[in-house]
Amino acid sequence: MPERDFSDKSKPTLREQAEAHFGKQIDDTQQVEEKKPEYKPTRAPVDTNQDFLFQTPTKEVILPSGGAGLYPQIPEGKVTIKPIEQREIDILNTDHLVQKNLAFDKAIDSCIMSPKISTNMLISGDKVFLLFKIFELSKGTSKYEFTQICPSCRNKNMSEVDFDNIETTRIELEKNEFVIEELPICKRSITYHLLTGNERSEIDQKIRVIMNSTTASKLIDSTSTEVMNASIDEVSGVPAEYKKEFVKKLIYGDAVYIKEHMNKNTPGMNPVYMFDCVHCEYSGEILIPITSEFFSMKI
Ligand SMILES: [Zn+2]
Repeated sequence: MPERDFSDKSKPTLREQAEAHFGKQIDDTQQVEEKKPEYKPTRAPVDTNQDFLFQTPTKEVILPSGGAGLYPQIPEGKVTIKPIEQREIDILNTDHLVQKNLAFDKAIDSCIMSPKISTNMLISGDKVFLLFKIFELSKGTSKYEFTQICPSCRNKNMSEVDFDNIETTRIELEKNEFVIEELPICKRSITYHLLTGNERSEIDQKIRVIMNSTTASKLIDSTSTEVMNASIDEVSGVPAEYKKEFVKKLIYGDAVYIKEHMNKNTPGMNPVYMFDCVHCEYSGEILIPITSEFFSMKI
């Protein structure tokens, strides 16, 4: 078939042919009026009670410590919480807050409806209790799945805990100050306090950075020492500047005695679980990672 020569100006174009036929210039810029079908929406009648539609489900919980002795602003230990909503998801996804490790605490604090407190002022056991309750309210489940790096072989494991299986210890504290009259081995007396959320997060963060470093196989998890250093306020016969040295030299029997004393007086939830590595023989109690992974909502 021979190719058509479009440069041949002697032949009339289609438009010219059409114009010759209809006897007028065709105006192709003219808007064609579309006939739209008559549209009748079949929506359900609008509920005029909008307050009901957007009401946040809140929940009142009572802090395991009872509140009265520790926090003047929570005299009955009653705290009203709400679930994580879009506003908190935005906080969790805000990069500059994530980089400064502020996103998670800010999002959690935003879920405390009344009284207006920061969870970091609470003792760790009360804070963990609130975190788990907010988690359940937000996700509709008490099961938490996360990645755990084995402290022994450094391989990744998928772990799951059910917060319903973690016991809540309720101890009404009059004040956050405890005295051990005499330690079994060194015979000294000590005064200690239970760590606040702030103190505990600082330690966990410090340890996490150390343990996730590339040379971690040579490092030792010093959480226990860090907790002792931060909790013990006074040791009889030991000047304050030697307190760290005293902790470093604590003999096993005394360390266990202090730990048991603390556990006995700690209300709330202990965020630990039994971890069994699928890659090696390791088995032991590990801290449940309460990090941004807790509400992994990259949506
Ligand atoms: Zn392992």
